[in-house]
Amino acid sequence: MVHIQISGKLSWEMRRNFVNLQIQEMEKIIEKRLAKELLKKLDSSERVVLTCHVRPDGDAIGSTLGLWHLLRSMGKEATVVVPDKAPQSLAFLPGFKEIAVYTSHKEFCETTVEKSDLIICCDFNTPSRQDALAPLIQGAAAPKVLIDHHTEPDSFAELTFSYPRMSSTCELVFRIIAAMGLYEKVDKDCATCILAGIITDTRNFTVNVNYPDLYDILMRLLEKDVDKDRIIKEALNTRSLNSLKLEAYALSQKMEIFPEHKCALITLDQEELKKFSYEKGDTEGLVNRPLEVRGMIYSIFMREDPDCVKISGRSCRDFPVSEICKKLYGGGGHIQAAGAEFHGSLMECRNILIANMDEFDKYLK
Ligand code: MN
Repeated sequence: MVHIQISGKLSWEMRRNFVNLQIQEMEKIIEKRLAKELLKKLDSSERVVLTCHVRPDGDAIGSTLGLWHLLRSMGKEATVVVPDKAPQSLAFLPGFKEIAVYTSHKEFCETTVEKSDLIICCDFNTPSRQDALAPLIQGAAAPKVLIDHHTEPDSFAELTFSYPRMSSTCELVFRIIAAMGLYEKVDKDCATCILAGIITDTRNFTVNVNYPDLYDILMRLLEKDVDKDRIIKEALNTRSLNSLKLEAYALSQKMEIFPEHKCALITLDQEELKKFSYEKGDTEGLVNRPLEVRGMIYSIFMREDPDCVKISGRSCRDFPVSEICKKLYGGGGHIQAAGAEFHGSLMECRNILIANMDEFDKYLK
């Protein structure tokens, strides 16, 4: 057997050409015209607001903060304004402390938004996803840009980047940056935020990632010296003791299995949540756990919040759990990850699902 050893490294020049070639490939997906227009808008603006959806997740914070770092390196004044507090699991992201939270700093957010000359909206498809922040953003004079990967976006922005097939808004942000020719301006902090969004939305490359060029992007981000392992540990694999115990309780005591429908259902009421001193984010990821059971196709989690029942659905093998959220509860989302809110009792909410499961059996094949 012959062992071929590759000696010597690619020269810097060769490597650079290789990088540029790859970046050009990534650009193709983004419409050149859109990228040019965004670049023009960025060039002509001084005070940019970056904003996202309520209960911001890793993708929402990663995309806004990632762009925040980029804009600052371009010498712009930029502010991330979010509807409410982001989870502690994202506090390690560079720039996290600079985020302006509308629920706690209303006046500051108002002046910042009103003074802005460009507003970039990330990771949501309709103004109502911003809750109480929506009127401020929609009422602002500054032009808006939407960057998102959810289906059927509303047309409230002058410029809309809508790519529902992408793993995450952060992937889209990276592609847009590349298409604008600003890859060189991506520093370690910017890359860290973007990778955090990709890692959280794909659950560390386990869902919605079966296409090779996402791994090209991972490579490009690793080249910026990001600490991937730390992102995974902080954003996905660190939690409070109470939340771990709540999950154990939910799985051992509250998981109902419907074998003929290949479905699992978990419900948690207010009393149970209180028992485990529930805090926002504590049930993050719980809905995915039943899918670890061999043969399980979809999983529904219903949590009784003070104002409504929050429904999350997850599925595998292209079972459209979004159809369940849409048809039964008026919600929506992605094919394999969707949600809804139900105004009524937890019991009613549960019974509606059970009474209608038959209807969705056609998708099980
Ligand atoms: Mn997202």
